[in-house]
Formats: sequence, structure tokens, C-alpha cells
Amino acid sequence: MTKRALITGITGQDGSYLADLLLEKGYKVYGLRRRTSVPILENIRHIENEIEFIEGDIQDLSSLIRAVKQSDPDEVYNLAAQSFVGTSWTQPILTGHATALSVTNMLEAVRIMKPDARFYQASSSEMFGKVVETPQRETTPFYPRSPYGVAKVYGHWMTVNYRESYNMFGSSGILFNHESPRRGVEFVTRKITDAVARIKLGLQSELRLGNLEAMRDWGYAKDYVECMWLMLQQDKPDDYVIATGEVHSVREFCEIAFKYVDLDYRDYVVTDPAFFRAAEVDLLQGDPTKAINQLGWTPQKTSFVKLVQLMVESDLKKAEITRSEIYSLRK
Ligand code: NDP
Ligand code: GDP
Repeated sequence: MTKRALITGITGQDGSYLADLLLEKGYKVYGLRRRTSVPILENIRHIENEIEFIEGDIQDLSSLIRAVKQSDPDEVYNLAAQSFVGTSWTQPILTGHATALSVTNMLEAVRIMKPDARFYQASSSEMFGKVVETPQRETTPFYPRSPYGVAKVYGHWMTVNYRESYNMFGSSGILFNHESPRRGVEFVTRKITDAVARIKLGLQSELRLGNLEAMRDWGYAKDYVECMWLMLQQDKPDDYVIATGEVHSVREFCEIAFKYVDLDYRDYVVTDPAFFRAAEVDLLQGDPTKAINQLGWTPQKTSFVKLVQLMVESDLKKAEITRSEIYSLRK
């Protein structure tokens, strides 16, 4: 029988790759989509007609109840959130609603309408924040450093609590940073590759960044969504760290990205205090041993250098289109 999946956050980076994967596997895919004045479907344009959209907002329990009723899902992937750490300081209350409390909304909707559905919660390495051990694993205590990190800790523990209170199948993926050409442009990786492409094509002259020494364990989003699916195929629900185990600095990311188009990042990158965080997470490095052993997952199908290159290539194509549009307007 055809399996049915409900994805919240389907228009985002991970939701779009997960939808690609589930469609490939023959799932009927439902996507919760919030109403916007102008539809933003860039990431899912190519599969728009294969997804059944349900209008709703994760902050609105009634729309989630309706979404679960309408989709009658075997699997629910809860990816929607206010996902940008920087914004979580300027909009801490919204972040609390969208990233923390909304997890309870989704859990309640599932508990009320379809308690035997399998539930995936998008937890985050930001929960480790000011890390108390390195590398971080499932047993590492949390020490979040931003309103976003705090909100994710709440969502994580609510998923554990519903598992223990109601015997629901709820699994959390503690995913370390993962990037792709579909990443939002405010995140540092995409901000860099977008700028590299625009600088190369003469559309931009400099790149203003914050802390270049921050270290992250960066993976490729397309490789990571496979883990979400694998977690819901296990006999029992559980929590897993998903990471590559390899770390690089923001500076290194810049160096590789600029070098790929024969430029030296030192000629273009300007440090700007506006992009420093109120409380920084200096280093995140995950230990994916449990996911490797129990899920049979292979980290780093796509290497760090390859990831940087594929993001630069994609942004070069986009910048080329922008440049052509500017030229045709001038004619
Ligand atoms: P994105 O920011 O790309 O996508 C977020 C999605 O959530 C978008 O589809 C957005 O919709 C949706 N959304 C936000 N608020 C609401 C709302 N109130 N109601 C309905 N939908 C809403 O995030 P990613 O794809 O990168 O991440 C997916 C999840 O994984 C997030 O929860 C994120 O916090 C978490 N995560 C991500 C990591 C990463 O490195 N990418 C690492 C660890 C965890 P819209 O398009 O309308 O804005
Ligand atoms: P995060 O790990 O979820 O916060 O992902 P980001 O991509 O937003 O940030 C990763 C790291 O890059 C953090 O340590 C930031 O402080 C650092 N960083 C340095 N400059 C910038 C910048 O201009 N924008 C962003 N978003 N991050 C920056």
C-alpha cells in the first residue's frame, strides 16, 4: 500500500529534499504550507504538481489537526521552524512560538488524530551550544546559547516526553549544520557562495561577515534527509546525532569558495561587528557513530570541498541569470 507522509516546512531546504526522496520512494506526499501574499516555492517548483499542499501554520493547532486528518499520515516530518539563529535574538518570542511550542502543537495534532503515526522532530546541534564535550553525541548535555537553541531543546524534550507518556513513535534527529544550493541566503555558507558568484560576475564588490573563526561540522542536506527517513523505519523510536565528524572554520569555507573562482578571499571579505552573535557557538563537531551503526547511514557521501564547489556552481548560474536580466534592462 502507498505510504503517506506529512511534511511541515516543505518549502525550506530540508523539506524540499525530503519531498524529493519520499516521492522517489513512491510516497504520497502532503506538505503543510503557510499562506503568503506571494508564494515562495523556489525549492519545490520542480515537484509542485506532485505534492498535495495543505494550508496551515504550525502555530495554529486547528490547522494542524485538519492537516493530520486530511493527510492521514503514516509518517509525520516536523521540519517547520523559525530556523535562523541570528533572528532568534531579534524575534525571541516568535522563535519560542514557532520553534518550541509549535512542536507541542504538532505532537498534539498527531496524538489526537493519528496516534500511531511515526513522528520525526528536527532537533539541532545548536542545543549543544557552549559544548561541554567534543565531539558531541546523543548523551552530551545541552547548553544552548541562543533563543533558537533554547527553543529546540524544548521541542526535543517534548518529543521524548510524548514517546514516554503516550508510547508514541517519536524520534529526534540532532542534525549538525547541513547546507546546499537550497539553503537560505542569510546562513553563512550560502551568504558566502552567493557573494563569491556575484563578485566574480561583477555584481558585488565585498562580503561583510562576522566571526571567521567559528567552526562547524558541515554536511550536505541531500545526504542528511535520508537519515530522517531511516529513523522512522526502525523498530523503535530513538534520538540520533547526524554529522560528518569533520570540522572547518568560516574562514576555511571562504578560502575554498573564493579559490574555486580564482579569487583570494582576503581581497573581498570585510569583518563587520553587525554580524557577530550576542553569544557565539564556537565549535560544533558531531559523533555520528550511533547513526552509522544503527541506521546503516554513511556520513560524507559528499565531501566538504565538493559541497562548497556545488554551492558556488549553483550560485554562479543564478548570478549569470541576474546579470543577463540587468543587461537586457539596460538595452
Ligand atoms: P528552512 O529555514 O529552510 O525552512 C523552514 C521551513 O519552516 C520553511 O518551509 C518555512 O516556511 C517553515 N515555517 C516557518 N515558520 C512556519 C510557520 N509558522 N508555519 C508553517 N511553516 C513555517 O530550514 P531547514 O530546511 O534548513 O531546516 C529544517 C528544520 O531542521 C528546521 O526546524 C531547522 O531548525 C532544523 N535544523 C536545520 C539544520 C540545518 O543545518 N539546516 C540543522 C539542525 C536543525 P516558509 O517558506 O513559508 O518560510
Ligand atoms: P548556525 O550554526 O545555525 O548559527 O548557522 P549560520 O550559518 O547562521 O552560522 C554559522 C557560524 O558562522 C556562526 O558561528 C556565525 O557566528 C558565523 N558567521 C560569521 N559571519 C556570519 C554571517 O555573516 N552570517 C551568519 N549567518 N553567520 C556568520
